[in-house]
Amino acid sequence: MLELITNADVYAPRSLGIKNLVVCAGKIVEICDYVPLLDDRLDIVHTDLDGARVVPGFIDAHAHIIGGGGEAGPSTRVPPLHLSQFTTAGVTSVVGLLGTDDLTRTPQSLLTQVMGLREEGLSAWCYTGGYHVPATTLTHSVRSDIVNLEPVIGVGEVAISDHRSSQPTTDEILRLVSEAHVAGLMTGKAGLVHFHLGDGERGLAMIRDCLDQSELPARSFNPTHVNRNKPLFEEACELTKRGCTIDLTAFPSDEDALGWSAEQAVERYFDQGFDPEKLTISSDGGGCLPAFNAQGELTKMGFAKSSAMAVTFKAMLGMGIPMEKALPLMTSNVAKLLKFHAKGRLAVGFDADLLVLDDVHGMSSVMANGIWHVRQGQTLIRGLFED
Ligand SMILES: [Zn+2]
Repeated sequence: MLELITNADVYAPRSLGIKNLVVCAGKIVEICDYVPLLDDRLDIVHTDLDGARVVPGFIDAHAHIIGGGGEAGPSTRVPPLHLSQFTTAGVTSVVGLLGTDDLTRTPQSLLTQVMGLREEGLSAWCYTGGYHVPATTLTHSVRSDIVNLEPVIGVGEVAISDHRSSQPTTDEILRLVSEAHVAGLMTGKAGLVHFHLGDGERGLAMIRDCLDQSELPARSFNPTHVNRNKPLFEEACELTKRGCTIDLTAFPSDEDALGWSAEQAVERYFDQGFDPEKLTISSDGGGCLPAFNAQGELTKMGFAKSSAMAVTFKAMLGMGIPMEKALPLMTSNVAKLLKFHAKGRLAVGFDADLLVLDDVHGMSSVMANGIWHVRQGQTLIRGLFED
């Protein structure tokens, strides 16, 4: 089937103006000013967007796709996420991972969920390991998991500066990053370590020590949740000058928060002139959002959702951050860091992952790998076990 999409105001993320697109077999095969003449004996679906904005599908590079949590007993384990929880938020690519619970949740089930989401039409990958070091793996080493298992692109989320971490030493982290880095070289994958940052006062000191002490490239150290408290965010911004890409979490807004919302952090980051290509945003979807007191006792529990991507995107545009600066944080910057060569941009030869926006920056229609999952606000495709 051929899709002809006309009168689209394309942000690739760069603004291309009004264009017409042809999609075939899951790929963008043409972006042009004229309306291409297609043989009407072909099975063609024509969508006239009447000037609506079209942007690349979001890449959520941090989601607990089999559910996270369990930090306040077994009943607090978050259930697995369904297909439409991603697509309705504009997420067409996802990277799954394990967190605190890398014991009862396993790389085996994570990998199987990745394959399940792929069957349902999403693009999906995962990290091996979880919060703890030595990392939990499927084939006995991090290096082997990345080299031998196609969907595994790196290690994460490895916890530092957090009471839930395994309190890894600098040497342990150096060895872990070296394993990921070498596996990345062998495969052409990202081969990085995605670090969960807690609220601990040590902040990013461990990563700076590793950079000082080794030849490992800065791009292999990828800290997330860096907007969870304000001093940590300032440290993280400085770390981008050494070559690290930092990841913001689209935490639900909380007035008493110690940190910045993702959109506030983005505004500060740009105002201070840091490298626009070294910042990304992810959802932490499926992860629990616990609050602890000074004794490490749980005081409150919630859980994160991929819909936070769409909420944050809307908030950024609502604050006046231009589309061409906001979009890369969820699309091209992520694809570049993770070496997803056919993702994150609207261009000929790239995967047909695209979002049609409504007048208030919401998701009107969502196409993943050339298939419409959402059209004009209607969810057309749901996972098998969704209501
Ligand atoms: Zn985390």
